[in-house]
Amino acid sequence: MNDRSCLLGVLVRIMLYRSSMNHTGLWILGNQLDPDLGVSTSVPVLMIESKQWVRQIPYHKQKIVLVWSAMRHFAQHLRDQGYRVTYIQSEDFQSTVAQFIQTEHLTTLQLMEPADWPLKQGIQSWELPIEFTPDRHFLWSISEFFDWANQRTRLVLEDFYRLTRQRFTILIDQGQPVGGQWNFDPENRRPPKKGLNPPLAPQFPPDDLTRQVITEVETYFPEHFGTTDTFNWGVTRADALRALEDFCTYRLAGFGPYQDIMLTDEATLWHSLISPYLNLGLLRPLEVIERAVAQPGVPLNSLEGFVRQILGWREYIRGVYWLKMPNYAQSNYFDHHQPLPDFFWTGQTSMHCLHDVIQQIQTTAYAHHIQRLMILGNFMLISGIDPQAGEVWFHAATVDAYDWVMQTNALGMALFADGGVLATKPYAASANYINKMSNYCADCTFDPKIKFGPRACPFNYFYWDFLLRNQTQLIRQGRMGLVLKHLEKFTPDEIQIIHDQAIQFWHFQEFYKR
Ligand code: FAD
Ligand code: SF4
Repeated sequence: MNDRSCLLGVLVRIMLYRSSMNHTGLWILGNQLDPDLGVSTSVPVLMIESKQWVRQIPYHKQKIVLVWSAMRHFAQHLRDQGYRVTYIQSEDFQSTVAQFIQTEHLTTLQLMEPADWPLKQGIQSWELPIEFTPDRHFLWSISEFFDWANQRTRLVLEDFYRLTRQRFTILIDQGQPVGGQWNFDPENRRPPKKGLNPPLAPQFPPDDLTRQVITEVETYFPEHFGTTDTFNWGVTRADALRALEDFCTYRLAGFGPYQDIMLTDEATLWHSLISPYLNLGLLRPLEVIERAVAQPGVPLNSLEGFVRQILGWREYIRGVYWLKMPNYAQSNYFDHHQPLPDFFWTGQTSMHCLHDVIQQIQTTAYAHHIQRLMILGNFMLISGIDPQAGEVWFHAATVDAYDWVMQTNALGMALFADGGVLATKPYAASANYINKMSNYCADCTFDPKIKFGPRACPFNYFYWDFLLRNQTQLIRQGRMGLVLKHLEKFTPDEIQIIHDQAIQFWHFQEFYKR
């Protein structure tokens, strides 16, 4: 044997030794179901269904069914591809992960960065050999967002959105926005008109595996919010792609003009219903945007309106969350402390708009953006409900909720508890807005045009009372001047009556029961 082959032998032995020392495994969280794992089939995979996670919040039963069924389908898909998957149903994450590392003799356990701040902090404190890989479910990395945010005195969605359009060359032609405008809002957000016929959203009847999960959820968590009888969510990537395809083919064209309307017994309208799949990793944001842009015959106002939601709002919401956590979760700008009324859990209220939306959520675990913002969030804001109680309710109630998307949407956008970090003014509105954008008021015991008195719509006296109570904080928000001017029209007596009625609401809740 010559010197050269001797040296080669040593090198091979070193490499073999090093690879035997370097055992890597992969842990996949329930909201990281991206089929492209980025590792070979020789890497052992861990997935954990944790009951402890489910007990943190009274999650809608459909949310638990969706996550667990999607995880089990995903594990099966990986096994079919040749991966060795250890799928464990356990109480908690930490002991299960430690056990897996020991059993598999791992030196490193890779994990895609968790999307939620509390989980990442928790994992970092475990002192286990866990290595974070970049989160592939967003277009911007967290550090890129920080770089952008740290160069600015004020965070503004519009600036971020335009930059993101340019960065990923979406609806951009030679550096300029396609159609000559960044925003087509004046053509969108129309009120409902008679004879609207929303297309049906696709159906995903539960298969055997999902039915099995439904039985388990009903057995272990019978007291949780919502019903599983009407479960109709896709649970695989193939389902998610079908949902996207269906939306782009049949509803995208109508998305722009009808995105803000609300109709009794119409849950889905022209919305996409893809947030659960994006948030689970079953769809990637860029593929969604590219598919939408490729759809022929879609008016630009609808296409741009939809692109803005994902390229703009979704990325921005998540960036601000990471920028401001953990203190953000405690914010309470207006010092609101009313407890959440029971009807949020039962739907039993004579306020028809709230009754309709809450019932819809009980049966579908879904409400579209304006129902969340201008009915549920608006009521919580103007009636002075404790923002953290509101956040927990939203987190429990909807199928697409996770900490990263809920803190900023609930506390920031809906409840303005962050004092204007996220939104430039509170989304507070009286019955006038709801009456204009929906058909709810036609079937209500209250009158949307009356400000106070027994038939007055609670959204009215709460709205005016909210403005009156919070004038000092609101005057600091530049865009509120015109609205606050209206307060000058009230006489002192009227102000007192409005205030009394807002207080009486909390003492006579039976009156507002259905
Ligand atoms: P579409 O109306 O079809 O919009 C398309 C996509 O844009 C959505 O699927 C979503 O991925 C994205 N998007 C639009 N707006 C936002 C936003 N503000 N933040 C994040 N993504 C956005 N979204 C969630 O994904 N999970 C939540 O738990 C959630 N809670 C919310 C709570 C409140 C109080 C408010 C005001 C908004 C909340 N949103 C949440 C944002 C938005 O309402 C939902 O993303 C949307 O209604 C989901 O339905 P869709 O898929 O049919 O959306
Ligand atoms: Fe809602 Fe008031 Fe209209 Fe009734 S009248 S549906 S409570 S906004």
